Amino acid sequence: MLKKTLNTITDYYLTAKGIQKYAFKKDKFNKLDIQKRINDKKIRKFLIYAKTKSPYYNQLMSHISNSEINNEMLGDIFNSIPITKKKDILDNKKDFLIARFKKFITNSTSGSAGMPLEVRLSHNAWIWEQFFVWRHFMIMGYKFRDLMLIIRSHTPKDKNDILKFDKVRNFLYVSPYHLDSLPKSVIKKINLLKPKFVRGYPSSVNSFLENYSKDINFSILGIHTSSEILQDSIRKNIEEKSNSKVFDYYGQAELSSSFFQCSNQKYHLNFESSYVNFEQSDKYTSNIVKNISTNFENYAMPIINYDTEDYLEIEKSKLEIKCECGVEYTQINGIIGRSNTFLFNASSHRVSTININTFLSKLSNFPEFQIIQKELTEIEFITQKSISKNLQHKITNFFYTQFGLGTKFLNKKFVRISTGKKPPFINNLK
Ligand SMILES: [Zn+2]
Repeated sequence: MLKKTLNTITDYYLTAKGIQKYAFKKDKFNKLDIQKRINDKKIRKFLIYAKTKSPYYNQLMSHISNSEINNEMLGDIFNSIPITKKKDILDNKKDFLIARFKKFITNSTSGSAGMPLEVRLSHNAWIWEQFFVWRHFMIMGYKFRDLMLIIRSHTPKDKNDILKFDKVRNFLYVSPYHLDSLPKSVIKKINLLKPKFVRGYPSSVNSFLENYSKDINFSILGIHTSSEILQDSIRKNIEEKSNSKVFDYYGQAELSSSFFQCSNQKYHLNFESSYVNFEQSDKYTSNIVKNISTNFENYAMPIINYDTEDYLEIEKSKLEIKCECGVEYTQINGIIGRSNTFLFNASSHRVSTININTFLSKLSNFPEFQIIQKELTEIEFITQKSISKNLQHKITNFFYTQFGLGTKFLNKKFVRISTGKKPPFINNLK
């Protein structure tokens, strides 16, 4: 969903700034109380800026005075500002922009509801994001200039372009569209260069290892996944096949908040630029909450209490407990995924795929799947390998009793969308 529209030079420049920020920062993680004090000041300044400069928030925040912003509890202030939905931005685009703010890049998201959204991100917010990704690479064990194999972000022009080398970054890109039939010469080239790390969508890394783990002759030191929800069973498979650990990263094109997965398999908030409102009312269950968050470094286009349409799995009592990995920043158990994808049940009512994901993730030995709905009466359930009769029975039963839908099991290639990602749910009836 993430499509960068920044030009290459700005891209390299801002990435380099992010790395520089990392290199020069003495403590890669400030102590929690120190960072909280820094954030407190930054957030208040940001809220006053939004109230003063953003036509949209100027109206929405007219009930709060600057001195209240300076003195009240931050939680109370955030709770008094309505949630901003993607539709609000689409409907009031101009009112969100800070016209005088020039140092920004544009990022766009396609969105499954078919409403593409363009957001402005200040250079500063983008540099922070590069810093976070870089910090996460280091946690994985990556060292500057280590060769990384990237199985995403490369759409080849033709068959001779399946592999692409980026000298500046020392990244080797392989096309996520060709993972079922990579030419021998491509594998040979990868073997010759021996990348130390692999990065990609969970589905693309999984396909690569499923198909070629026997053919590769280098050892992988770590795997970085992002941009799709990582299923536990897929992690297990990737880790077994690669004999290394997976480090997952979650964020959105809007950069409202991002989380990185640590060696202890928890996710930590990149605390230095985001405020997550765990108190918001739209809870799914007590431990599954919507990710409503604010990037307080984005002065190009402030968005407060942004509804990311993703759900997070939390344990309230453990949100602020120091993790075994040593990190003190907000910890959550997992990323559940998007609430805005849905299928239709037999009586044409929308059914959130969150329920389906929750059910499927509880089945043991569950393989990577894709569900496509082409008709009101049934779904296609696609896996790469055939699954047991017992598992098929459980799944059939679930879809029939819950939604009145039949299930057709198929073994075939997953459908990939334009960025090369493999969405777990595709609704063709929309
Ligand atoms: Zn941790």
